[in-house]
Amino acid sequence: MAAEVLILGGGVGGTIVANLVAKKSSGWAHVTVVDATGIHVYQPGFLYVAVGKEQPSALQRPETSLLRDDVSLVVDRAARVDTVARTVQLESGRTLPYDQLLLATGSRTVMDEVPGAKDAHDFYTMDGAVRLFEALKGFQGGTIVIGVAGIPYKCPPAPVEFVFLLDDYLRARGIREKSQIKLLSPLNRAFTIEATSKLVQPILAERGIELTGFFNVETVDSVAKTVSSLEGETMDYDLLVLVPPHRGQKVIEDSGLGDERGWVPVDKNTLKHTKFEHIWAVGDTTNIPISKSGSVAHYEASVAADAITAEVKGEAPPKHTYDGKVMCFLETGQGQATTIQFDYDHPPVSPTPARRWHWAKALFNKTYWHTVPQGRLP
Ligand SMILES: Cc1cc2nc3c(=O)[nH]c(=O)nc-3n(C[C@H](O)[C@H](O)[C@H](O)COP(=O)(O)OP(=O)(O)OC[C@H]3O[C@@H](n4cnc5c(N)ncnc54)[C@H](O)[C@@H]3O)c2cc1C
Repeated sequence: MAAEVLILGGGVGGTIVANLVAKKSSGWAHVTVVDATGIHVYQPGFLYVAVGKEQPSALQRPETSLLRDDVSLVVDRAARVDTVARTVQLESGRTLPYDQLLLATGSRTVMDEVPGAKDAHDFYTMDGAVRLFEALKGFQGGTIVIGVAGIPYKCPPAPVEFVFLLDDYLRARGIREKSQIKLLSPLNRAFTIEATSKLVQPILAERGIELTGFFNVETVDSVAKTVSSLEGETMDYDLLVLVPPHRGQKVIEDSGLGDERGWVPVDKNTLKHTKFEHIWAVGDTTNIPISKSGSVAHYEASVAADAITAEVKGEAPPKHTYDGKVMCFLETGQGQATTIQFDYDHPPVSPTPARRWHWAKALFNKTYWHTVPQGRLP
């Protein structure tokens, strides 16, 4: 009888693993994806929605259109995993069995963990990006502050990309001289990656974007319009954009599968759960201290798919494991971008920003639907 391979989450990682296991297991596995919405969302596009350069409808497709015909999709929310009975209870009350379980539920944003930040803007959800663009359309000048309210968060360069795109947007509207853009970083540089921060900081300065380091957002006073840091500084704003705190999904926390923030502990190479047998995790949900990015989910997915396929076929584990590979684009505005590449053994490198990287990112964004979910590696 075919082994039941159950995948929680039909985002980047879950979809790739589902398609690859179904393809490679030659009938040894029956693959089921459980996804809370049944709609696959291309999140990197939120940045462009927030500045009016993309429509939300272009970033969403039904998950069924991205899965092979031999993969079953259940649209429901996983509520609890029973690692003894090897079952997953869904919100609807239905229970699904598994022989191999992949956790690919990504992360969730929790803005309400920041006192006073209820009305702060963000570009980390579709609704947040749409609401932010509405606010920007009404903005006639003043101070826009972009702060970070918790590490780790998805796509470490995204706040830097956003301020560059915001600078372009305000220039195009002819209100840049009446506006100040202030980027608050929790570190002593623009963002986590030192080499790329060194590359982009002079460009931030050139564009008149003010960078303040060591500002970990702690509280917001939405009446006085101030944001305060753990370090004791306070900054005025007219429009506040925050990177919300992130944590793992409730199903991970409620099932005792994660750490105190709901991140799943896995071996950083094999992607196997460190405590439970037959459980794997890929993408944002893992506790691996590496970028929470689609590219990581993508590279990890091909490793996890081969390992799960070997397991269901009763073969030896594959020799190749995840090597920490990351490859991201970073928009630097004015039609240019750079890239960030590294792995566990090689430090990050970023080329001088150029138009070709901007076009490469635009091309990747458009072709995503036909390459990534199917597991084709760039
Ligand atoms: C503004 C922004 C810009 C970004 N830019 C880039 C970029 O340029 N490059 C890059 O590589 N990455 C980028 N990312 C990050 C990238 O989108 C994520 O890292 C990636 O989507 C993670 O993939 P995942 O499979 O782990 O999770 P996700 O793609 O988030 O998928 C998780 C899935 O799980 C489902 N789910 C959640 N809980 C449950 C549950 N209980 N039961 C069932 N289903 C559940 C959700 O519905 C979702 O479909 C960006 C993200 C943002 C927000």
